[in-house]
Amino acid sequence: MKHMGSITEQKYLFVPTLKEAPKSAEAKSHKLMSRAGLIKQVAAGIYSYLPLGYKVIKKIENIVREELDKIGCSELLLPALQPRDLWEESGRWDKYGPELMRLKDRKDRDFCLGPTHEEIITQVVRDYLNSYKKLPLALYQIQTKFRDEMRPRFGLMRGREFIMKDAYTFTENQFELDEWYQKFTKAYKRIFDRCGLETKIVSSDTGQIGGDEADEFMVMSEVGEDTITYCDSCDFGANQEFSELHEGDDCPKCNGGVIRIAKGIEVGNIFKLGTKYSESMNAKIINKQGKQVPIIMGCYGIGISRTLMASVEQHATENGLVWPKDIAPYDIHVIPMNIKEDSPQMEIAGILSKALKGKRYDVLLDNRNERPGPKQFDADLIGIPWRIIVGRRAPEGIVEIRNMQKDIVKEVHFSKLLLKKENIREIFATK
Ligand code: ATP
Ligand code: MG
Repeated sequence: MKHMGSITEQKYLFVPTLKEAPKSAEAKSHKLMSRAGLIKQVAAGIYSYLPLGYKVIKKIENIVREELDKIGCSELLLPALQPRDLWEESGRWDKYGPELMRLKDRKDRDFCLGPTHEEIITQVVRDYLNSYKKLPLALYQIQTKFRDEMRPRFGLMRGREFIMKDAYTFTENQFELDEWYQKFTKAYKRIFDRCGLETKIVSSDTGQIGGDEADEFMVMSEVGEDTITYCDSCDFGANQEFSELHEGDDCPKCNGGVIRIAKGIEVGNIFKLGTKYSESMNAKIINKQGKQVPIIMGCYGIGISRTLMASVEQHATENGLVWPKDIAPYDIHVIPMNIKEDSPQMEIAGILSKALKGKRYDVLLDNRNERPGPKQFDADLIGIPWRIIVGRRAPEGIVEIRNMQKDIVKEVHFSKLLLKKENIREIFATK
């Protein structure tokens, strides 16, 4: 479906901006997301997504959907509430430890709130498939996960309730698993690229999930909780926990590269699970040779809410949000400084908003009855990529166009913005 463009009247949009960040906010991204009215803390590691924040979440989710659908995945939705018996089958009811949120129903039966969904997805697939002919299969969901983290931190970065995309592949053999692993690697690069994040891929151990090979997608950042060892000239990367290398060492992979160590945020990861779950949970198929074998699995996660946080951390200034184009909540912020009915400002702002919507832009129209000061304050905080200010020179038809990120300020006659999309693109060009 082609995107149609939209106008949102700011008067009706709930964006509770704040002068001061809550005391609990440490990271720049956490402070700004709170001040710009994107998220509100409910308890440690638990947040409400307010309209502007949720809009960005949906943009990120849709980028993930587009890129995964493109490589042949299908989306489904699994329950958050999971019965103990499945977790007993995999052996994780005991192994998972205190991070697992456990609860009982009215008949005193044990349940948990899913921190991840290997058990549930394995049950789905094993109950429907018994032949290699139905494979390969790649399934994903975007869903709320629950983990009673020891140290919830930095807003959405480490939540106890958070949004994750988790995908699982089912293949007959290792070769096909390797192919999917490559496909996911490429799709992840495109996803993070579109979210404005430059990632380094580092190999890691397989931790809680267990299996063969694993890679993590890391965004370099001071507030990252992982320490990454990487090469300054080739693509070598390793998680410092499992690496013997030191700052300044020769790169073990290329000739001439030097090892650097830095902090990183893990935004996604991919695991070759192998047969860990299919063995323990008896998910088997008859292979081409007519033998019954366990299905080979892979699993692939992306922290959707953490990706939002990482993108804000990466791009925002101390004073306001700065959005990569593809995940900005709106494309253009139209701000008439005076909305009185007899002022030409509101009229021009209305005509412009309609025209831009017609050209498939998402427009936020600040039609609130506020003074210029608070309007500018909010606009600076929210950081919509392009701003059109309809102010003092409105009687001559002149409006001001700004791109805060690129330091561009132009004055144009508003009629120029009513032209064909190609001409408008020129006006909004950043070079
Ligand atoms: P971490 O080492 O940061 O705890 P993990 O190895 O436990 O991550 P996975 O279980 O593989 O992470 O989850 C997949 C993705 O979900 C991670 O790459 C991360 O982006 C995200 N994620 C994991 N835990 C959290 C959390 N507590 N809050 C927000 N996002 C999370
Ligand atoms: Mg963890």
